[in-house]
Amino acid sequence: METLQGIPVSPGIAISKALIVDNEGFMIPRYYVGRDAIGDELRRFESAIEAAANEIATNRHSVTAQLGEKIGTIFDAHWQMLRDPGVRHGVETLIRECEYSAEHAVTSTFDTFANVLRRSPSPILAERAHDLSDLERCLLRHLTGQAELDLANLTSEVVLVAHSLTPSETAKLKPAWVRGFVTEAGGAGSHTAIVAKGLEIPAVVGVGRFLTKVSTNDLVIVDGNTGAVIVRPDEETLARYQTEVQKQRSLAERLHLLRDMPPETKDGVRIGLMANIEFPTEVAACLERGADGIGLYRTEFLCLDCDAPPSEDDHYQAYARVVRDVAGRPVVIRTLDIGGDKAGWVEGIENERNPVLGLRSIRLSLRAPQLFLPQLRAALRVSMLGDVRLMFPLITTLAELRQAKAFLAEARHELDSRNEAYRRDLPVGMMVESPAAAVMIDRFVGEVDFVSIGTNDLTQYTLAVDRGNASVADLYQAADPAVLRLIDATLRAARQAGVKASLCGQMSSEPVYTMLLLGMGLREMSIPPSSIPEIKRVCRHVTLAECERVAAHAMTLDNARDVETFLRDQYRQLGF
Ligand code: PEP
Ligand code: MG
Repeated sequence: METLQGIPVSPGIAISKALIVDNEGFMIPRYYVGRDAIGDELRRFESAIEAAANEIATNRHSVTAQLGEKIGTIFDAHWQMLRDPGVRHGVETLIRECEYSAEHAVTSTFDTFANVLRRSPSPILAERAHDLSDLERCLLRHLTGQAELDLANLTSEVVLVAHSLTPSETAKLKPAWVRGFVTEAGGAGSHTAIVAKGLEIPAVVGVGRFLTKVSTNDLVIVDGNTGAVIVRPDEETLARYQTEVQKQRSLAERLHLLRDMPPETKDGVRIGLMANIEFPTEVAACLERGADGIGLYRTEFLCLDCDAPPSEDDHYQAYARVVRDVAGRPVVIRTLDIGGDKAGWVEGIENERNPVLGLRSIRLSLRAPQLFLPQLRAALRVSMLGDVRLMFPLITTLAELRQAKAFLAEARHELDSRNEAYRRDLPVGMMVESPAAAVMIDRFVGEVDFVSIGTNDLTQYTLAVDRGNASVADLYQAADPAVLRLIDATLRAARQAGVKASLCGQMSSEPVYTMLLLGMGLREMSIPPSSIPEIKRVCRHVTLAECERVAAHAMTLDNARDVETFLRDQYRQLGF
């Protein structure tokens, strides 16, 4: 039995056999092969080299025939790498001395070489890292004798074990088969974590290097509540976790009874509990949990897997489905928030040095009218179908907000000239997720109909901590007093201006923060649907006066740890 600790990002417990997937979506069958199989593995590697060499020669031939000799020579780099004695020696040594399977030896060796190249100051050498990873995929394909594993089409229950998963890979996972996942990399605020929560797949990220400790088909327990990952559990541990699964099931059944009860405090104040979604298919889960509407529709997930920008009609069809399915409840459509860890296909942002400080979100939309205007036209048109609201992400300056609104005016103008109907009074809001927006909030509230605080990014930018980086995950604390002050200032300014304020970052889905947020004056939150029952339970157990006392005290504390300890203590006293 091996126990590891990572960052819990999606609650629940999964117990299943491991399926190890490498970075490029290949299934790696075994890690260690044993002494007897070394000869076989060396022969398999040799055959894969020959097959890859033939494939490269065929590709070179056909590309040269179509595009000329000069273009055909790009395959020479692959050829040279394939024949490089250093690479070959590296793989063979790992098989011979460490008893690695050929696949495992290939990924380890290619990783080492690619990392050296990537760090090279020469852009030409750094570019070679891509060639190396193409070649690695080619070898893996020949070794495993399979096409890249299609994560969307698994047909047996597994716990996925990977170095990392991108948000779009995670989005493809089917909870019926992927019972849980564990990754070496990643942090609590990453979009991979957010999608896992949306899909209700128990997940632990940021475990650090551990892939060599697991083999495909090992039994693995993923505890998405505490971050524990147990490989090959002993009988006692397995029995303990099986009992825990039963307990959680009965808690979920009890919470389900709250479904039709209002999220109202003991002193009768109705709290809005909206849901966050990434895909139209999630609306059913929101209604099942009793959501008041969709408070954050992350529309960028519509296009993370595409090769080209979605058309106005692609946008319209997706939004129309959401608006129809929520049957009259409000839907906040957030415009594309591409970039950061949601790079997708957009040209020009794939090699940014600091993607979260780069051309992401509204900045990208403002520079790409061909991306932005079709989305705005679709959102305007869909406003005819229900209670639709539009929200701009990552607004940092007033100029950006005004520019975004100018684009909206242009989209209206285009619809007018097409004689298309839309609601002229479509409410327009912004996310407050940059410290600059929070500091200048008194100026922003005069120009929007509502604001929604995005604590995932607000925490990242206030504390200068990459939300997806496991090495600094301990510094990523929404309860830091600096973040709390910005939330407080935003809520106060919104209240004074009579502008509605919501909070849609992960913070509002953690029951331990509910009293604090209500005490600060928050009356609407938008959270993953799976969190609605628990947050509703807290709302129904507290009075606003109690919450105000909790918030007032929390605001006097001077570090995140003290705030957390105090809030956990208050939460415990609720006696659930
Ligand atoms: C946030 O930053 O808090 C937020 C809700 O947006 P996202 O997580 O999609 O960046
Ligand atoms: Mg954000």
